[in-house]
Amino acid sequence: MSDIRLDDIIKDARSIAISGHVRPDGDCVGSCLGVYNYITAYYPEKEVSVILESIPDVFHFLSGSDKVETASDEKKIYDLFIALDCGEIGRLGDSGHYFTDAKHTLCVDHHISNKDFADINYVFPKASSTCELIGELIDNDKITKEIAECLYTGIVTDTGLFQFQSTHRSTMNFAGFLMDKGIDYPWIADTVFFAKSLTRGKITAVAWDHARLFADGKIIGSYVSREDMNKLDALPKHMEGISNDLRSTRGVELSIFVYPLPDGAFKGSARSVKTFDCAAFASKYNGGGHIRAAGFSLTGDDPESLVEMLCNEAATQMKD
Ligand code: 5GP
Ligand code: MN
Repeated sequence: MSDIRLDDIIKDARSIAISGHVRPDGDCVGSCLGVYNYITAYYPEKEVSVILESIPDVFHFLSGSDKVETASDEKKIYDLFIALDCGEIGRLGDSGHYFTDAKHTLCVDHHISNKDFADINYVFPKASSTCELIGELIDNDKITKEIAECLYTGIVTDTGLFQFQSTHRSTMNFAGFLMDKGIDYPWIADTVFFAKSLTRGKITAVAWDHARLFADGKIIGSYVSREDMNKLDALPKHMEGISNDLRSTRGVELSIFVYPLPDGAFKGSARSVKTFDCAAFASKYNGGGHIRAAGFSLTGDDPESLVEMLCNEAATQMKD
């Protein structure tokens, strides 16, 4: 257990904002709502806002998801801003100005690219998930079923259902503890991990169709184009996890997947199996993340040539 206690940090704060990274994933939503449910349950006198970009529908079963607000331009000074699963101020997106103006700030995160940008930084890159770290900061006897559902969701999504290297004994122990809170864990695993929309299936088929091997089969690169997405009415949320799927190709150490973003830029995702440092690779393109999973944005004309360039660059790096 940590010396840092969330109870001590929030004690004197009357107004609290909780936020996470842009394009929130399960760990981001789970940690934000887990902390939101904890504070509202045990500190009903405090004014708490949970501020995120629109969250994927699949997380709407989580308690508090109907309370999520989107950031506005209006100035507001919070006594405490809690940044979760987010490594730098720029990744907070539109809620960044609340962070800058807040009287005190706390960051809980597990990205290796984290910039220690808050007053208090509880950052452990080896941790499976921000949700597991939240479990170290709060009194576990106070974890309700609703909080457990949030934290379990984040652990499941960020560990690929306890498969990734970031899964430790502590992860399994804490997940087991959460299971005892009466949560429907097989249903959560099915809903947040296995179940995919038909659109996601169809756009994944396109990504597989475009896939090419590089570096004697050690790298797989693929993309979907704006036209592919338009044809299937696919959105960026449908791309979640495709880079993980590609990585499962036998013999592959690294997968690189590129897709277009609505603003005209492209998003890149890198996933590795054992040795390749995805976070370092992503940082060359102003991105970041974890050693085995990282993301970045880049500009260019067509995604196919971007993938080729990225895979060749990664291949050179592998030789070094
Ligand atoms: P994904 O490829 O699924 O978008 O992201 C993989 C991991 O890298 C996630 O933990 C995500 O938060 C992080 N990540 C994705 N894109 C960026 C980026 O542009 N900058 C930083 N710092 N991290 C990113
Ligand atoms: Mn995370």
